[in-house]
Amino acid sequence: IEELLRRSEKLNTVGQLAAGVAHEIRNPLTTLRGFLQLQQQTHKANPDHIDLMLSELDRINLIVSEFLILAKPQAINFQERDVGIIMGDVISFLDSQAHLYGIEFKLDFIEEPTFVHCEENQLKQVFINLLKNAIEAMPEGGSIWIRLTRPQAEQVQIDIRDEGQGIPEDMMPHLGEPFITNKETGTGLGLMVSQRIIQGHRGTMEIESEVGVGTRVSIVLPAVPQKTIEG
Ligand code: ADP
Ligand code: MG
Repeated sequence: IEELLRRSEKLNTVGQLAAGVAHEIRNPLTTLRGFLQLQQQTHKANPDHIDLMLSELDRINLIVSEFLILAKPQAINFQERDVGIIMGDVISFLDSQAHLYGIEFKLDFIEEPTFVHCEENQLKQVFINLLKNAIEAMPEGGSIWIRLTRPQAEQVQIDIRDEGQGIPEDMMPHLGEPFITNKETGTGLGLMVSQRIIQGHRGTMEIESEVGVGTRVSIVLPAVPQKTIEG
């Protein structure tokens, strides 16, 4: 029954979201249509217009693909995985990009294993979303601290802290709602998707932020009881 409830709740959210997505992709489509019509009338391709059309196409792609993560029926394929290893994969994936922006990842992982029941790709998605936000908050570069702890035997905690521009106070209550963004090319879906995924893992996600100081996102997930020596 709980699963059914979870599913219908999800369908409901997706339904509400669909209206928002339709609206969000209509704008770039209108631009594309306008410039295509212009090209057709003048028979001359203006490179600026082509650039604009390409970037609007990219935007539609981004919105639709973030949306699809939500809409996809959740494969109920949870497995025991070490969060430290998943995070390590994500960091090596983002490291060169971060380096380009003058950003350094500083890791502080406990040595004990940090196993959770999870859908690995979904957790990766969450970590990528959060680390990208941190990177985007520091256009001048800086450090991102990633801490992995076990505050209690049955919990794994992940803290991602940046020294970026911070989140304006009036925006805080709206985080997690769709299409909340202050970025030119943002979708405002990353935090909402992340929150949903963490909820689906029976975890919690909290955000603290101070403008001009930085932001910290803390995730707590239920841990798989620590195993003694194999066998
Ligand atoms: P997007 O990144 O596409 O804008 P998100 O849902 O990932 O959408 O984030 C929503 C908004 O929350 C961002 O536009 C930004 O204003 C704010 N935000 C999220 N994380 C951070 C962070 N680490 N530092 C500063 N602002 C952030
Ligand atoms: Mg984002």
